[in-house]
Amino acid sequence: MLSFPDSVDVVVIGAGLAGHCAALAAAEAGASVALLEKTGRYGGSSITAGGSFAFSNTEAQRAAGIQDSDELFEQDLHKAANGKCDPQLIRTYLRHQHAAHAWLMERGVEFHKVSLSSSTSVPRTHPTNPKQLMAALHARVEATPGLSWWSGAAATRLMTSQDGGEVTGVTVVRDGVEKKLQAKRGVVITTGGFSRSPRFIEKFAPELATAPAWGGEGNTGDGLIMGWALGADVLDTGYVTGTYGISINHYPDLKSRPGDEPYLRMANYRGAIVVNLDAKRFADESVSYKKLGTLTLAQTNAVAFQVFDQKIMDQSAVAPNINDFKGVLELGMIRKADDLQALAATVGLDGATLEATLKNYNANVASGVDREFGRETLGGGFGKPVEINTPPFYIFPCTTAVLSTYCGLRTDTDARVVNVFGESIAGLYAAGEATGGFHGAGYVSGSALGKAAIFGRIAGRNAAARVAATGRQQ
Ligand SMILES: Cc1cc2nc3c(=O)[nH]c(=O)nc-3n(C[C@H](O)[C@H](O)[C@H](O)COP(=O)(O)OP(=O)(O)OC[C@H]3O[C@@H](n4cnc5c(N)ncnc54)[C@H](O)[C@@H]3O)c2cc1C
Repeated sequence: MLSFPDSVDVVVIGAGLAGHCAALAAAEAGASVALLEKTGRYGGSSITAGGSFAFSNTEAQRAAGIQDSDELFEQDLHKAANGKCDPQLIRTYLRHQHAAHAWLMERGVEFHKVSLSSSTSVPRTHPTNPKQLMAALHARVEATPGLSWWSGAAATRLMTSQDGGEVTGVTVVRDGVEKKLQAKRGVVITTGGFSRSPRFIEKFAPELATAPAWGGEGNTGDGLIMGWALGADVLDTGYVTGTYGISINHYPDLKSRPGDEPYLRMANYRGAIVVNLDAKRFADESVSYKKLGTLTLAQTNAVAFQVFDQKIMDQSAVAPNINDFKGVLELGMIRKADDLQALAATVGLDGATLEATLKNYNANVASGVDREFGRETLGGGFGKPVEINTPPFYIFPCTTAVLSTYCGLRTDTDARVVNVFGESIAGLYAAGEATGGFHGAGYVSGSALGKAAIFGRIAGRNAAARVAATGRQQ
């Protein structure tokens, strides 16, 4: 059996998507690599995600007759970020996206039919099954010489050279024992966000303190803390928001139970309306699920129901899983009835009000003007709203949850961590959700997995290529 190493070229902390990409890229560049994972399993948030990657101007889009361009994608990213992102990081994403997409496919990741999601002006979601995505990459990790991965191995602190100028390794707690692991070339932080840290949610987004947290179970901001301790700058902390569309698995019981998984479903981008406990609409359902998330938190009990008909159910698809309405119907989380009165009764809404809401909405769709909330499209400016009038009808009780935090360590285009003085910290890299500066004040669906893969690869490659300062002391 392999014993835990004392020293490798590159240490990667966190075995989600960014960590797998960083570790593989570093090993493929010839470095010896240790991939550390704090929990008992690989995958983090990545393995429970929707599985959607945002890429523009791809062969898959062209084959589906979708006209897109990198410029349009760049505009969408800036628009969603509300101008708060680092334009250089966006350009780096665009420049490397096709290579990353191809690299993932070459490593066995299967992409499904392109689809529409939140904040994209054309269908740009390249769906994967997240379990297949991570299993394919993990099989590569297991098979790559010079790359070892360690579960139950929590990095706790970064080690530095005596003058503090260079990161030289990490301390790791494994089986209750602290070990020192030297990194001869670099350390890559890929510890994900902090959705599971009540302390950080309270610090950066107190309004989300009562929202369910569904990110990876080990996502408690450890990388942020380790970077901070060395003076790393932190970006986008003011923009942590919840995500709308998360199942309430045992409705009307609002609490989750041990073993529950979150189901993120978005029938609204297929034409569903969203109503509150008064059976009334409260938003333009085409807006981003982040905006809908904030609006839902303001509704009674933070509950909002997606209401749709058979036409929309017929569009159910297994990938991206946000469109897998049938799967969630089979689990009993979507309720079904032949008429609206009976549908309302399945979740305790007032039937007459729900009927009136639908009647009004359908009249608005027929007239081409949504007089209540100005909905013009299915989502992100794409597609036309449809009347909801074909029985049977469906209703999905859902809420807003903290899935991802999308803020964190400042990095440059080489994925080097940058300190509060704007200087890169020698030997320290970061990628994925542990980093800030890319999403700014908003979020384009699919860009988090895209970012994890693209910058994970950049970080791994650059760490592997780095020459440590000569004569450094451990
Ligand atoms: C339900 C859900 C749906 C989503 N859907 C999408 C989607 O469709 N498209 C999209 O782009 N984004 C989506 N996201 C967001 C996206 O999944 C994440 O932003 C992305 O997976 C982050 O990848 P990562 O590798 O940075 O982090 P993660 O995949 O979260 O991996 C981080 C890993 O680091 C480990 N770790 C933490 N601390 C330590 C430590 N001290 N030592 C060792 N290991 C540590 C964690 O246990 C974890 O395994 C979704 C998120 C959720 C929760």
